Amino acid sequence: MKQCPKFTFGVGDRFAHGAHAQLQAFIEAKKLGIDITPVWNKSNREHDIIGSEPQTTRDAADKAVSDLNWTDDYLLDADHINLATVDRFVAPCNFFTLDVADDIGEAANPADVETFINNHPELIGSIQIDGIDQPLEISRELVEETANQFLKATQKARAIYDHIVAAKGGTDDFVTEVSMDETDNPQTPPEMLIILAAIADQKIPIQTIAPKFTGRFNKGVDYVGDLNQFEKEFNDDLAVLAHAVKAYGLPETLKLSVHSGSDKFSIYDQKSHPPHRRRTPHQNRWNQLARRSDRARDLRRNSPQPSQRNLR
Ligand SMILES: [Zn+2]
Repeated sequence: MKQCPKFTFGVGDRFAHGAHAQLQAFIEAKKLGIDITPVWNKSNREHDIIGSEPQTTRDAADKAVSDLNWTDDYLLDADHINLATVDRFVAPCNFFTLDVADDIGEAANPADVETFINNHPELIGSIQIDGIDQPLEISRELVEETANQFLKATQKARAIYDHIVAAKGGTDDFVTEVSMDETDNPQTPPEMLIILAAIADQKIPIQTIAPKFTGRFNKGVDYVGDLNQFEKEFNDDLAVLAHAVKAYGLPETLKLSVHSGSDKFSIYDQKSHPPHRRRTPHQNRWNQLARRSDRARDLRRNSPQPSQRNLR
């Protein structure tokens, strides 16, 4: 397993012309003392829209890295792939986002559901999670319902993972993410815990998970939703992730992925200075940059949003 760095930031180089400018932003952040690993992520859908191949994203990233003398890590994400679409990403990518959204709700084998419930008595009852005030109250019915919703999806994620390992020639030198963001219903913290238990049962070395939040992350526009609610969901999910790492032996590096669809400046602002903390000069600088970029975006925005979905 390739270790996922602590702070990664996704960049989408839609036409493979932006990698230098994007990498320059990471270089500027590094000058401010912030180590962030770039992840170039371009989904299968994006490649289909543009008519490009994943290798072109890899070539552009490699060239930017070489031209700008970036010596830190960087990742190439096969974003939102499944068994049918993963193959052309295998060679150029070292990060795979297994998209199971379409499989959520597909009926699992009733015997598998039963086994899952019997194997996880610890999921039922009142569960205290460090970092969440109220214990999670989980009934057997909720475990069963969630298993019915998600078990099949986790089994399919395992099949994609196995396929990538086989195609990569038996190595697993890549980062694995599971995404569930492109679905209609947000996942609650209890559901998140049950899903992580199921993913651990499948022995998928998941290092990042992208849930669906209650608000909307449409591409190129700011977050549509309640910012305080988002902050609470974000923090609760983090607490559940930390709990699941200990309870189920998931990789220590497991973290939360926010599929932002770009330009979510209100959220960066929200997370960068909670009310009890004063802004640092770096944060002011960051916010300044964000506002400037916001204005630039307003000027150049001229195309309609492609769909109702949360696109990355
Ligand atoms: Zn996504």
